[in-house]
Amino acid sequence: MTARIQVLQGDITQLDVDVIVNAANPSLMGGGGVDGAIHRAAGPALEEACAVVRQQQGTCPPGHAVITHAGNLKAKAVIHTVGPVWKGGDAHEASLLEQAYRNSLQLALDNGYQSVAFPAISTGVYGYPKPAAAEIAFHTVERFLTFHRTPEKVWFVCYDEENARLYKRLLSQQGDDVDA
Ligand code: ADP
Repeated sequence: MTARIQVLQGDITQLDVDVIVNAANPSLMGGGGVDGAIHRAAGPALEEACAVVRQQQGTCPPGHAVITHAGNLKAKAVIHTVGPVWKGGDAHEASLLEQAYRNSLQLALDNGYQSVAFPAISTGVYGYPKPAAAEIAFHTVERFLTFHRTPEKVWFVCYDEENARLYKRLLSQQGDDVDA
């Protein structure tokens, strides 16, 4: 049995997976951090695709997710999800972060994609404390995979040392119990 959850440290734009998830902002305009890196690597076609979504659906509120093509990336699609801005913990941040992961996975499932890579949503500019965010991300994905066969595999791609350590610890605690 192969573990369905994997953790690696690196640049998410380089991954050869079906779907890369972007930690977007509500305007879907591209920005700094992982969002900027994804837009730079994907090229201007991604910005155009985001503009079409924005025209059709308006802005993307926290917890929601939308899907576009992936421009020049190796991935087949990008799912843009908006995490919560950390405001101290009493502004529904945990449930919005959970929704961002769950809605992204549901979109991947709806489109039949089997491999999905997530960055550590909200843990950069949005300021979500990394340990708490990692717990939510890991357990939300784990729960979803327990109930669904698609996606078959999920990668947590950590850019920084602290997130890599946190996710690796969660993975080692869980062992292989998410295997179908
Ligand atoms: P947010 O606004 O949701 O906080 P950021 O892009 O500022 O989004 O940060 C989210 C996480 O993405 C941070 O942990 C940051 O270290 C990480 N990150 C930045 N660039 C990359 C990249 N190229 N690949 C993967 N993760 C990245």
